[in-house]
Amino acid sequence: MATKKLTPMMAQYLEVKERHEDCLLFYRMGDFYELFMDDAIIASKVLDITLTKRGKTDGQDIPMCGVPFHAYESYLAKLTKHGYKVAICEQVESVAEAKKRGSSAIVKRDVVRIVTPGTITEDNLLNSDSNNYLASIVCLNNSEYACAWMDISTGDFFVCDIYERDIDANLARINPSEILLPNRIYEDDELYETFNFWKDNITVQSDARFEFLNAKKNLLEYYSISDVDALGTFSNAEITACGVLIDYINLTQKGTAKHISKPSKVFASGYLEMDSSTRRNLEITQTLSGNYKGSLLSALKKTKTAVGTRLLVERLSNPSIDKVEIRDRLDVIDFFLNNMKYAYEVTDILKGLPDLERAIGRLAVGRGGPRDLQALKIGLEKVAIVKNYMHNGLDQSICLIDITRNFGQHTILIDMLTRALKPELPMLSRDGGFIAKGYDAGFDELVRLRDESRAMINDLQRQYSLRTKIDKLKIKHNNVLGYFIEVTAKNADALMEDELFIHRQTMANAVRFTTVELSDLQTKIIDAKEKSLAIELKIYDELVARVLKDKDHILKASNSFAKVDLSSSFAIFAKENSYCRPIITDDYVFDVKSARHPVVEESLKSQNQDFISNDCNLEEDSNLWLLTGPNMAGKSTFLRQNAILVIMAQAGLYLPAESATIGIVDKVFSRVGASDDLSKGKSTFMVEMVETAAILNRATNRSFVILDEIGRGTATFDGLAIAWACVEYLHEVSNCRTLFATHYHELTYLKGQLNKLSCHTMDVKEWEENVIFLHSVVAGEAKGSFGIHVAQLAGVPKSVIQRAKDVLKVLEKDERSGAIERLEDDLPLFSSAPEIMDNHPVVDALNEIKVDDLSPREALDQLYKLVELAKN
Ligand code: ATP
Repeated sequence: MATKKLTPMMAQYLEVKERHEDCLLFYRMGDFYELFMDDAIIASKVLDITLTKRGKTDGQDIPMCGVPFHAYESYLAKLTKHGYKVAICEQVESVAEAKKRGSSAIVKRDVVRIVTPGTITEDNLLNSDSNNYLASIVCLNNSEYACAWMDISTGDFFVCDIYERDIDANLARINPSEILLPNRIYEDDELYETFNFWKDNITVQSDARFEFLNAKKNLLEYYSISDVDALGTFSNAEITACGVLIDYINLTQKGTAKHISKPSKVFASGYLEMDSSTRRNLEITQTLSGNYKGSLLSALKKTKTAVGTRLLVERLSNPSIDKVEIRDRLDVIDFFLNNMKYAYEVTDILKGLPDLERAIGRLAVGRGGPRDLQALKIGLEKVAIVKNYMHNGLDQSICLIDITRNFGQHTILIDMLTRALKPELPMLSRDGGFIAKGYDAGFDELVRLRDESRAMINDLQRQYSLRTKIDKLKIKHNNVLGYFIEVTAKNADALMEDELFIHRQTMANAVRFTTVELSDLQTKIIDAKEKSLAIELKIYDELVARVLKDKDHILKASNSFAKVDLSSSFAIFAKENSYCRPIITDDYVFDVKSARHPVVEESLKSQNQDFISNDCNLEEDSNLWLLTGPNMAGKSTFLRQNAILVIMAQAGLYLPAESATIGIVDKVFSRVGASDDLSKGKSTFMVEMVETAAILNRATNRSFVILDEIGRGTATFDGLAIAWACVEYLHEVSNCRTLFATHYHELTYLKGQLNKLSCHTMDVKEWEENVIFLHSVVAGEAKGSFGIHVAQLAGVPKSVIQRAKDVLKVLEKDERSGAIERLEDDLPLFSSAPEIMDNHPVVDALNEIKVDDLSPREALDQLYKLVELAKN
């Protein structure tokens, strides 16, 4: 676009915009952020605000829209939610500085920050219940993968080496809001498919940003070190992943984010693995429809603080596989269970605890304010009180030592903040008004001068009123004239004739004057105000610097609060709801007695209904339960319940059961229900098979698998055949703890063939043509699906129900034609199938044949040869 016809301001706008083409540009003009041209058209649609115009370019109107600077956060939230990046362009010099370059020079503006989903720090835009992670995935030499992730609002920074096949499970664990990927991965169709669940969160960057040397340089500069070894021992892929993130925060925060901790190495294998679909199916932090209500988190969240809730989310999302770690977590809950009085008192104290992590994060990126300092003060004041409770239990449990120690001592900082801050504080530091009297003598002196001058103005008003004998003479103030004397038009002559008064302005009903004395006083007041504001801002910066110096101690204290909050509130919940402490072992057992599903139980309770508890006992030599039962009997609930118990136990929580013994599980897999993924181009059945494939390929003998109605998404016999083969594979090859629910009653024939498989069913009572679901799991097989009964309950017309019953009778007669018995006799078990295929001469010969090179005659010869080989 030709810029010669543009105003200087538009020329400046376009220059900035050109450097930030991939962002919507919020261009600051007075009290508004204005958007122009295409940005304005997009923003006006997304934000539902009026599109106007401002000036012309090449004879065309320039579209414009604006959002008020004071309320920009909600607009920003909407835009980032819709996947847009926003570049915030501010004035970077004062009007006076601009004027030095010439009277027509416009104030310099530049982007001070780029807001993306993974780099938000505004409290209103962040979900206080979860971390907001920015992640990067790198691949070096086509084989070495690493993932790094950081929360810019808290400064946490982690990295781990991963395998390509684990990318999804790792991302699912971290749940990042934004993932940085190199263009190379984005363009590799096969590899990019790994990011199927994450496509809405991806930001593609140039390959150069993902080069090892560039990334290393970023780290050296950011941490002011000369060798990356100073950060610890990391692989090249890990260094690259970390450097990519540092590069991105430099790019988006324009150098203001200096608080990011050094990266901590995490071992991906240290956590219970769950892929995206398993997490979704088990509705851990949100339901399948994306709601919080109805999720496992919603049923278990009893925490009183934001940090406590984030810890709960973290533990449910990353259950441990370390027995000692799990034991330590349970011990802290135990401590409160044994000291219920403490639990109630501590949870009471924790109510209203400010979010220390987020306050520190905002201060660190220069977006904090006096209220963040006060939040820290209030939070740290609670440290000593809560620490005291933990101290009292020290002899009871060794794991309390760390919590108590990490609370630390903050007396000096608390004292400083108490003395420095007024009780009522403004949101922003920029206008001052937050430093308390008595904190700084120089500041107090200026405030006194300012206040005295104000008193002197009142004095002057009295004097001038006496001198002119005008009662209604007032000294007022506005931004244009500063202080002035105002009288009504009727009284103005007296002042006009008095040489003390200098005329300034005549209005319709009033006339305004000044005096030399008033001007001098005004100068003094302005001077004192400017100086006091400067001192106040300096003190603010010093306080922030002092707080940031203690950042690591404060974050440790915050982490202790999180642990105490989670454990004390969960102890109360566990007591009130008869939860039990799980016993975690090294073997392959899963033995739960009278267990319940925490979410379904809660929902039934709200309807005054009881949840029927169930046992489940999987041992090394009987680790596969085949569960049949009518529709609506509770099969899915039972399956999910047991998978959730594994997650809760390894998260270090008590369980809704009478007792539970669980051998450490390395991976949980769940394939429950069918959901279309049409937006991603996959049919229901395809999704089902992709998820099934992931389970069969990845489950180990330490894994816990729940499979619900595998094969129901295709034709009956195809579905049955797939389900049959899956059961055999899980039994013979995976050898993991498995709960397999199915409507294919034919599968129960397998109990005679697979020694670790046992059949269970949901108990029902038939009474006068009705079926009553008892929701209890018993040994044996279902007598039927009662699908027609459920259809009847659902209100399907009577004529259709009757017809369905007739059709069923015919089908049932035909089905018992012996097909299953033949299957049982003819087909080898899964375990023997691979042996047939390995190194078989027929297969070898087939591999040799180049079909396209054969004449029809040669093809026939080859066929004879193959038949011969097969016979031998
Ligand atoms: P379908 O085969 O049709 O998918 P299902 O056997 O998997 O059905 P669920 O969806 O698990 O059945 O359960 C159906 C309803 O039964 C649930 O919504 C729940 O309200 C109730 N229910 C399930 N289990 C129990 C239980 N143990 N105690 C009380 N009610 C239960």
